[in-house]
Amino acid sequence: MSDVKSILEVISHWALSAWGVLVLIVIMSLNRYLFTIVFPIFTFISAATAYFTWQLDISINTALIESIFLTDTAEISNYLSLPILGTLIASIGITVLLIIYRFSITFKKREFILILSLALMGIVIFTFTNKLRRNTLLMRAPFSYYIAYQDYKSNVKEMDSERRLLGEDAHVESDSIITLLIIGEALRADHIQTNGYFRVTMPKAEQKGALFLPHVHSPYTYTAASLRYFLTRAAPGMLDPMYTESSFIDIFKRCSFRTAWIANQNPLAALRYFINENDTIFINKPQFSDYSNTPKYDSDLIEPFTNLINQHHPRQLLMVHLAGNHWYYNKNLPEEYIQFTPILENKVLSNDNKERMINSYDNVTLFVDSVIEQFINELENKKAMVIFLADHGQSFGENGKWLHANGAPTEQNPACFFWFSDKYKIQFAEKVSQFIKNREKVVDTAFLFHTIIDGSAIKSPWIEPSWNLFSDQFQPKKANSDSQNE
Ligand SMILES: [Zn+2]
Repeated sequence: MSDVKSILEVISHWALSAWGVLVLIVIMSLNRYLFTIVFPIFTFISAATAYFTWQLDISINTALIESIFLTDTAEISNYLSLPILGTLIASIGITVLLIIYRFSITFKKREFILILSLALMGIVIFTFTNKLRRNTLLMRAPFSYYIAYQDYKSNVKEMDSERRLLGEDAHVESDSIITLLIIGEALRADHIQTNGYFRVTMPKAEQKGALFLPHVHSPYTYTAASLRYFLTRAAPGMLDPMYTESSFIDIFKRCSFRTAWIANQNPLAALRYFINENDTIFINKPQFSDYSNTPKYDSDLIEPFTNLINQHHPRQLLMVHLAGNHWYYNKNLPEEYIQFTPILENKVLSNDNKERMINSYDNVTLFVDSVIEQFINELENKKAMVIFLADHGQSFGENGKWLHANGAPTEQNPACFFWFSDKYKIQFAEKVSQFIKNREKVVDTAFLFHTIIDGSAIKSPWIEPSWNLFSDQFQPKKANSDSQNE
């Protein structure tokens, strides 16, 4: 019985959405010139959306709009393939035929008024149904572009607003300390041997004594949102700080830390505020897009990193943003790190290609591991703490999802580890032992703000013990599949 009901629900939902589209097309077709201009654009966008929804299971959300605005043509060419080109060319062909047909019809005044009033009635029905359940119809393509754009616009507005600085009242209790935050990209926890993966993908980090956290939960599954979430005081149910407050960087600066952002990803608009908080900013080869075919290897960051370490500032906060395991994996992979074969030969996202995809991905992890080893080498003789946290995981076709930004469970468990130098372990033995007690708990990425401050021997009224992995009052979060992406 409930099966029949849900089938009826799906059909009526589809019919009402289709009704909305029909009304739009009817209004467009009232004037043949309007039709000639607007209909092809409408059809082109709809065909592209349909194709990507079907093939990649993309969602039309803020992330997509953000990508459209922040993306250059180089990234788009990454997604082009013969089937999508075929689909788009076919859609253009059909629109041309329909435009020719439209020019063969002339409406009489009475017909025009009749169609117009029917269309207006259609709008009333559509709007009324949409209001019955919160935006139930507007959530669907093509109307979902409107909702996503509104959402994006409000995000941008908040981003540009003045932010509250959090550094006041903070002080540091150590003469010298180096904190390195390595922001990983799209690396999922269960693809690392220490978390039970059958392949050894991070041998060097393990050898150095990295302490992995197997159960980190990221509510966000795309870079921009994930970073502004964990760089700020934002937490589940309290997202305002992403848009209204400085990050923890301001707190470090008030405590006379020299801060640096060393990145192999070009700055996203959403992160610009936080990047600009730093004393030093190094962006690797910014003239090339992150999607260009010119290699921009994470190993390019070792030299600027070493230069900063050699400046011997007693207190430093260094943030390294890797390109890491971002699609297209082969692009981030120097040949000498190809250990698992066969690797990818094309960009097709399909089950047939899955084995190669995972091989390429795991090879990139080996490379990232070797880069991390070099960072750690520079810190071994100092009082230093390293936190590695990936922004999100990655999907390999689980439940039909690929890559990330889908809010899927496979994307919500990013890789994470901590590393402490011997000098650090001696001075902060208690912190380290408390951290070890908390290490295997379920940890929301909101932990970072509080934990990185306390781990750097900073006292600040903004530290919340229940989020602090160095505190015995740390509260594990319940694992759930809540997603902020939908
Ligand atoms: Zn990312």
